[in-house]
Amino acid sequence: MLDTVDFQSIKTTGIKVNYLYVCERKLWLFDRGIQMESKSDKVLMGKLIGESSYPREQKREMLIDNLINIDIVGDDEVREVKYSNRMHHADRIQLLYYLYYLKQLGIEKRGIINYPKMRKREEVVLTPEAEREVENALMRVQEILNLDKPPQLQRKLYCSKCAYYEFCWG
Ligand code: SF4
Repeated sequence: MLDTVDFQSIKTTGIKVNYLYVCERKLWLFDRGIQMESKSDKVLMGKLIGESSYPREQKREMLIDNLINIDIVGDDEVREVKYSNRMHHADRIQLLYYLYYLKQLGIEKRGIINYPKMRKREEVVLTPEAEREVENALMRVQEILNLDKPPQLQRKLYCSKCAYYEFCWG
């Protein structure tokens, strides 16, 4: 495991860890303040679903260090609500990062990803292997953000749905 000093120097936002797995170029553009994603209907839809899907559940939101915003449900679950599972690998690493972050604070929980539109739910557990994956992701995020130029343009399946499509391919 990273020591506390290392973690403090490379901790980042949940969305950047998510973008690392979506597209490294997207991560770099987002970090440089080109934030077109808020205009995306999909993101807005995800927020609406997140706010309205489980109105009767006991939910507490925690914003930690202004970096990660977590929904704590019940006593031992952290939850993310997603619009679709197209970016499942990115959703998973984001939630693992939250669990990892909490563990640095002495809090151990399990994760749940809810896909209400698909009526699906997935459990995410921070195993030792998953901890290594999170640490590698955090180090890779730093490598990308330290680049002077955006990572080279590479066509991805996701491009046509990406908020940066016009920027990259227009
Ligand atoms: S349009 Fe494609 S290459 Fe450009 S940031 Fe989005 S996913 Fe990455």
